[in-house]
Amino acid sequence: MSLFENTLKQIRKASELMKLAGNIEEVLSHPERVIEVSIPILMDNGKLRIFQGFRVQHNSIRGPYKGGVRYHPKVDMDEVKALSTWMTMKCAVVDIPLGGAKGGIVVDPKELSARELEQLTREYTLAISPFIGPEMDIPAPDVYTNPQIMAWMMDEYSKIKGRNVPGVVTGKAVEIGGSLGRDSATSQGGVYVLEEYLKSIGKEAAGLTVVVQGFGNAGSHVARLLHDLGMKVIALSDSKSGLYCPDGLLPEKAITCKAEKGKVGECAPEGQKCEIITNEALLELECDILILSALENQLTEENAAKVQAKTILELANGPITPEADEILKGMGVDILPDILSNAGGVTVSYFELVQNQMNYYWSLEEVLAKLKPIMTRAWRTVKDNASKYDCTYREAAFITALKRLEAAIKMRRGE
Ligand code: NAD
Repeated sequence: MSLFENTLKQIRKASELMKLAGNIEEVLSHPERVIEVSIPILMDNGKLRIFQGFRVQHNSIRGPYKGGVRYHPKVDMDEVKALSTWMTMKCAVVDIPLGGAKGGIVVDPKELSARELEQLTREYTLAISPFIGPEMDIPAPDVYTNPQIMAWMMDEYSKIKGRNVPGVVTGKAVEIGGSLGRDSATSQGGVYVLEEYLKSIGKEAAGLTVVVQGFGNAGSHVARLLHDLGMKVIALSDSKSGLYCPDGLLPEKAITCKAEKGKVGECAPEGQKCEIITNEALLELECDILILSALENQLTEENAAKVQAKTILELANGPITPEADEILKGMGVDILPDILSNAGGVTVSYFELVQNQMNYYWSLEEVLAKLKPIMTRAWRTVKDNASKYDCTYREAAFITALKRLEAAIKMRRGE
């Protein structure tokens, strides 16, 4: 199954519903630039290994390219193209002046020493350096990349340019020009959307049960934030296993435990009845809200019908295939889609870039005061489009993005 094809299907569907004019769909079906690099690294055992790296710059009609870099053994060009396209859509949904890009390296970073990882990151940065920069393309963290990796990228790029260029990447530590609130921004943005959605259906947040798939950056922060709102987090998972505690978990404790033990499955609270479950079983648990914050293609035509959640919040990119989408729609499950729900990450990345360019930094309160209205406005526009076109929130989110992209393309190129 091609992930990029799935993305194009989503665009096609929205384009049909809104009767998108002219060649806009065609333009957006092709990335503007595709870069593939070979990265030779001398490994600790003295052997040379060549790694494959990608950067896809999908569209820059609304602003410089923006998107994360993923380190994962399953990264390929098709996936990076899909992720870059979603970035274009996402920035348009929240109406920030950026385009879409994505990068990746085919690697399991857990198998590399710190020196090898640093070397790989620096060589990748060097290889793509002619094509990135604060006004051209700004990478950020994604799966298995983090503030340390961003620090190496910024340092390498600054060396190449002969001056300090903090705005070349976002998701940096605050000590070197990162923004306060960036670490939890993806989850916080998703929580703002979820709160607005719950208001719109007349439900209270307190007491709702939550299951979280993926306990990394996005998953751990969302579990913590929802627990703070009075929701009951009953299950968590990472790539190794899942943990189901029907009486509820304390996310803060699970975060500390996962950092120590490396596996969320080993983090059962003492004296509580908990069960270690598979990732497959976790997706099928009875709950009010299922949060998908791991990887793409988690709900497919194979397992979608077994979902018992009433609402799904997508913090991961592309966790539900178009076939599963149809099944869930038929079951009446509301899906708060990735290009809306996880856009808080890129929004605070945009704030980080702005702060870097001004060399003037905001307090956490200021960051959150700017993030919240952007997310709630985006939700309202998506909700209005869902009513107007009588469609799902995903279709409405794509329609929202396509309208803004269409306006920009028409104004600049007359297409
Ligand atoms: P991360 O590397 O911090 O965490 C990924 C987590 O997923 C880890 O806990 C890992 O163990 C788990 N995982 C991997 N495979 C799994 C599987 N098959 N089943 C269950 N868990 C599994 O990454 P992240 O930054 O939290 O990103 C997660 C998702 O959110 C990705 O799809 C990413 O593109 C998306 N996203 C992240 C951000 C961000 O700011 N970090 C922004 C937008 C979207």
